Amino acid sequence: MTIEQARRLVTPVPGPKSLELQARKTAAVSAGVSTGLPAYIVAGQDGILVDADGNHLIDFGSGIAVTNVGNGNPRVIEAVQAQIAQLTHTCFMVTPYEGYVAVAEKLNELTPGGHAKRSALFNSGAEAVENAVKVARHFTGRQAVVVFDHAYHGRTNLTMAMTAKNMPYKNKFGPFASEMYRVPMAYPYRWPGGPKACESDAFDYVTSQIHAQVGEENTAAVIIEPIQGEGGFIVPPAGFLRELAGWCQDNGILFIADEVQSGFCRTGDWFACDHEGVVPDLITTAKGIAGGMPLAALTGRADIMDAVHPGGLGGTYGGNPVACAAALAAIETMAADNLAARARAIGEKLTAGLNALAETYEQVGEVRGRGAMIAMELVEDRETKTPAAALTAAINKACHNRGLVSLTCGTYGNVFRFLPPLTISDALLDEGLALLGEAFAEAVTAGKD
Ligand SMILES: *Cc1c(COP(=O)(O)O)cnc(C)c1O
Repeated sequence: MTIEQARRLVTPVPGPKSLELQARKTAAVSAGVSTGLPAYIVAGQDGILVDADGNHLIDFGSGIAVTNVGNGNPRVIEAVQAQIAQLTHTCFMVTPYEGYVAVAEKLNELTPGGHAKRSALFNSGAEAVENAVKVARHFTGRQAVVVFDHAYHGRTNLTMAMTAKNMPYKNKFGPFASEMYRVPMAYPYRWPGGPKACESDAFDYVTSQIHAQVGEENTAAVIIEPIQGEGGFIVPPAGFLRELAGWCQDNGILFIADEVQSGFCRTGDWFACDHEGVVPDLITTAKGIAGGMPLAALTGRADIMDAVHPGGLGGTYGGNPVACAAALAAIETMAADNLAARARAIGEKLTAGLNALAETYEQVGEVRGRGAMIAMELVEDRETKTPAAALTAAINKACHNRGLVSLTCGTYGNVFRFLPPLTISDALLDEGLALLGEAFAEAVTAGKD
């Protein structure tokens, strides 16, 4: 199957068939599961998603940084088809199979640091994060875990406690797990005193807070997204992660990088930590790992990962053979097609396009990110930096109407994020940016009425 890599709208978005499906959804699916753009997708390849009405939409979301190698990736399709015909499940803990071991070997090789490592496989990012906490507590014999403002680590009970934002992730879902302690994030744009102050003060401030409020000797782990995802694509100042990792090491605290969103070439390296040579003790991965198949992993120092008693980690489906085959094919594609370099090129194009918008619109407070993980934060004006959440939502809607699958994020709902598949064409990137420009103009004009 080949899908023409061009936007084509034959009905409004969403069209009549999608609206019909959305009515069935409302009658059948919990209202708690919402849909950002209710165009029902029937096929996808690289930068294009095709909906039930035959519209070709431009994909700037990758299903939240999942289809980094693109939907319809030939290597992934072939590997999945071959594996599914051969074997779908045994449960690795009952009778093992090679694919699981091969994925662990790849992760041990590709994740930051040349030290001996071990991996364990799971189904979702949240599950990987939960297991990181289990392993860190087990290894250190300590209970406290330090998390950050704006963090997102998942929706299970433990990871809800670690996630920062109340609505929609936590509201009325408590009580939450204990021994989670939140400290400020090194957020240059909103740090009191600005980016320079953030760069010089954030590390000292954060570690002094951990010392004063938690105590190093009680702290099992500090867990951080090297570039925060749902929280607003927040990039800490250069040096912050490295200093923090060093401080953790000096204090017997494990430094855990949650690279569920930033991993697998998304930021222009295999992992976001690579950019600064930061080597985490443990790293969690998921999303981009397997070309859309559900898979997640915890990878870390062999001594830490092997400290757990046999049977202490696992799960029925973790490291499913089909998902493992997809992961091996996706990883092979990233290496063979140098998708890290492609992510950097995408980043340059997106950044240039967004900076051009920033020259026209005072509402663009900041353009930031790395590689193909780029965002713009929208504000009412650049002096007050008041988050412009309504404008962000209006632009997003106007993009959707034009057949651009766009995503927002941020604690204040005022960040536009760009996560195209790394196999998207330059032509679709340019067209997406042009549509964004139109949507921006429309929303700003409408806001003035
Ligand atoms: C998406 C995400 C998770 C949770 O992953 P799920 O597969 O949705 O459970 C955890 N951490 C980060 C950084 C994420 O972006």
